[in-house]
Amino acid sequence: MSTMIPPRSPQQDGAARLHIESFEVGPLACNCSIIADLDAKQAIVVDPGGNLPLIRDRLHALGVRVASIIHTHTHIDHVGATAGLQRETGARACIHEKDRFLYDMLPVQAAMLGIAMPEKTEMEGSLNDGHVLRAGALEVAVLHTPGHTPGSVSFLVNGPDRSHVFTGDTLFNGGIGRTDLWGGDFNLIKSSIRERLLTLPDDAVVVCGHGPDTTIGDEKRHNPFIRSFGL
Ligand SMILES: [Zn+2]
Ligand SMILES: [Zn+2]
Repeated sequence: MSTMIPPRSPQQDGAARLHIESFEVGPLACNCSIIADLDAKQAIVVDPGGNLPLIRDRLHALGVRVASIIHTHTHIDHVGATAGLQRETGARACIHEKDRFLYDMLPVQAAMLGIAMPEKTEMEGSLNDGHVLRAGALEVAVLHTPGHTPGSVSFLVNGPDRSHVFTGDTLFNGGIGRTDLWGGDFNLIKSSIRERLLTLPDDAVVVCGHGPDTTIGDEKRHNPFIRSFGL
């Protein structure tokens, strides 16, 4: 279940100010990411889905303080370690308000997936489209990309060399998110991908909610769902 997995694909961009790393956490192997300004020693954590000890170890190794804990959506596999991380760091935890109903029904999600009910915490519903989160010189912009859930968002970080976009379960390497769960909408996920993600530069790195990274250009060329939509 929550085995210790070494960090995957640590990356340093440009002037070594921006540090991005992702690693799998929790029972469904959600990708948790740490986006840090190593000069300012501040970080934003994306989708702490479980394995608080691993997340804590990586933060300590980087020597960074957590400014915000943000979530691409509130399916249970993306929020498992949020409460513990918030308690330890004092950081605010944020979601898009349209996903609050999913956080309120975590017991239903836990029962459906047969996994333990995580500790709950206060979530700010502040991740509106266009909102920018800051940590040191780091800026993380919120793109509302509904469809997988009503409050699904993507996070855009413009590095000195290229951009990274954290797409949660909206866009995967070779796939797209399911839309048959609570509040899912197939037409919405298609328009979110077409209008908000495929409009990013081809060399933008896509950090997905599960599975390996990709790029916008690779998904345009090879993602069978995108090709079949005629996007
Ligand atoms: Zn999901
Ligand atoms: Zn997920």
